Amino acid sequence: MQKLEQLYEGKAKKVFKTDDPKLYIVDYKDDATAFNGEKKGTIASKGVVNNRMSAIIFAQLEEKGVPTHLVELLSDRETLVKAVKILPLEVIVRNVAAGSFSKRYGVEEGRKLVKPCLEFSYKNDDLGDPLINDDHILALELAAPEQLDLIRKYAFMVNDFLIEFFLKSDLNLIDFKIEFGLFDGKVILADEISPDTCRLWDVHTGEKMDKDRFRRDLGNVEETYQEVLARVEKNS
Ligand code: UDP
Repeated sequence: MQKLEQLYEGKAKKVFKTDDPKLYIVDYKDDATAFNGEKKGTIASKGVVNNRMSAIIFAQLEEKGVPTHLVELLSDRETLVKAVKILPLEVIVRNVAAGSFSKRYGVEEGRKLVKPCLEFSYKNDDLGDPLINDDHILALELAAPEQLDLIRKYAFMVNDFLIEFFLKSDLNLIDFKIEFGLFDGKVILADEISPDTCRLWDVHTGEKMDKDRFRRDLGNVEETYQEVLARVEKNS
């Protein structure tokens, strides 16, 4: 598979065309941003962690019946993926209150939610990714009704899977963000699942084992990403 010209460079990844128009190569970077790009930095080897971890998780999700963009892991930083058109939605599932949810609703971080809570943001940096609901999505034609139904179904399937998956590594899944794309007109899971996009708290110590270490300057950022990958690779 030949890596051709760069199609796009995002905050954490570059996407390249290949000689097959239906396939892209994603190349994960070490760049980190937070607060809509206001905070910038580098987390050494983050790209390797996020690339390898996403490949492990996506492969297992496929087995559980969630279609994903994964084709194959190519190297430490590169994965061959299906060429999707990303839907402009951040799909967030929460099991425990944290981050913007805690702030918005005045709920202390760490409060277990009585049921998993699905939330959407409109992916739009200029607007600061505003929170939107199902009716907004349909009214603005960000997704068709049957696509939205599938997104909701897959999001909860991903949540059920990830809770168990991370528990095997002594990590509590607090919340996460996923993105979907269209491939041959079908909704499939795309983007990544990594410590950049999940909140993971150590089961025993409650320690934050995710991007909040970078966002909140908690220290040991690189080491924590490495530790999460090591645990996940050992237990999967
Ligand atoms: N998240 C993400 N990208 C974003 C916003 C959120 O990956 O642009 C993830 C974040 O890491 C967390 C979950 O989505 O696991 C919920 O994030 P929240 O809405 O609480 O926003 P934050 O507090 O991160 O601004």
